[in-house]
Amino acid sequence: MATDSTIMDSNSFKPEDAVGLDESTQKLIAKRELLGQSYRLFYKKPLHFVKGLGTKLYTASGEEYLDAYNNIPSLGHSHPAVAEAVAKQLTLVNTHTRYLHEGIVDYASDLLSTLPDEINRIMFLLSGSEANDLAVRIAKAYSGGTGFLVTQEAYHGNTDLISALSPSIGASQALAIDARLIPTPDTYRIQPDNLGQWFVEQIATRIEDMNRHGIKFAGILLDSIFSSDGVFPHDKNGKTGWLKPVIEYVHDQGGVYIADEVQPGFTRTGDSFWGFERHGFVPDIVTMGKPMANGIACSGVAAKQDVLEAFSLNFPYFNTYAGSPVAMAAAQATLNAMRDQDTLGNVKRVGAELKGALQSLAGSTDLIGDVRGAGLFLGVEIIKPGSTIPNYPVAVELIEAMHEQHVLCSLCGPGGNVLKIRPPLVFSSQDVDTFVTALEASLKSVR
Ligand code: PMP
Repeated sequence: MATDSTIMDSNSFKPEDAVGLDESTQKLIAKRELLGQSYRLFYKKPLHFVKGLGTKLYTASGEEYLDAYNNIPSLGHSHPAVAEAVAKQLTLVNTHTRYLHEGIVDYASDLLSTLPDEINRIMFLLSGSEANDLAVRIAKAYSGGTGFLVTQEAYHGNTDLISALSPSIGASQALAIDARLIPTPDTYRIQPDNLGQWFVEQIATRIEDMNRHGIKFAGILLDSIFSSDGVFPHDKNGKTGWLKPVIEYVHDQGGVYIADEVQPGFTRTGDSFWGFERHGFVPDIVTMGKPMANGIACSGVAAKQDVLEAFSLNFPYFNTYAGSPVAMAAAQATLNAMRDQDTLGNVKRVGAELKGALQSLAGSTDLIGDVRGAGLFLGVEIIKPGSTIPNYPVAVELIEAMHEQHVLCSLCGPGGNVLKIRPPLVFSSQDVDTFVTALEASLKSVR
């Protein structure tokens, strides 16, 4: 593995990088000691943003950066309709789910209309971690089991329960004793003829192992685009749909399928509103978060009624700030704007432009082994020339060079070598040009 934690440490600031930074940056970094040591800053020269607009961020000294990394401001930074909806609701009332309010039920019904009919219940929370935590509890209550499957480099969140199902946090994080890891469906390196069948075989051996240890299988938690695993949206022939037999097998084994849509949901993949739809199946539970309210804390767990019931008949649930009128106003304004601005159409069009441009660039360098992605979620493999071996040091250099070019992106994958390109959904053709020009220059500079 490239680093201790591929999700947290890949291009993070280290205390020794402080030498040479300007005085005010050093002071601000030093003050963060108050926060303890767990937070990681990005970059050797950490960035201090004070303003954001659309796909651009602005530093305290007024420098402009193109944001090709942040998926929470899905409609772009400082979207006026969301700001207005939040401000208006704050002047009316902001309570919680123990009082009646139209906002929560209107949004629930609108959001459920984007999901398959069988998924007809939704609960609201604040973060993706909380959503996955509740989803796993629901799956355990429904299946009567405790054993969970996740991929080798998965990240699903930071609660005690979900950290133990998030191997990408790094070796210090203990995994759940009743969890089993399945390999990343790495279509760049393993290329099975039938990816679905291969994945089923991987799962079958893990469930067998659970059975031998007296663990009842409860379900599988999968990010529908395998983002922290390195972005794998297709099989080796560029086809979707390979997850469908996997889910059928999970159901045969009595397990619940949780689609973690924190990354691919809300039109990100350009093919459909939800990432799982590309694979042609209906999950039992769908979790969602980040892009949902354009920056206001809001997440959700949508489920089939019978799957949810085993939990909801037995356990009351309250989450102080979740589903509040303000959170719902922000989420509704975000969903409305996604429709009004046709983010799905934009993602499809601009995502194809970006992928095409990156593929052309790949033809001119031996450092890029693969360009893959769906919509505006792309992964670019940085490799040791002439091989498929991850080139972590060069990938980190590239991210730093992109920073010098005023473009933000990051890294993912077990080798920490896959450029993770995941901009706001309103990325434009002009942004594509800026991004690719910066990457071209950065590739030259690392040589
Ligand atoms: N699931 C996935 C796939 C994620 O990428 C993340 C966050 N990176 C989470 C869940 C957790 O979301 P949050 O940080 O909002 O708790």
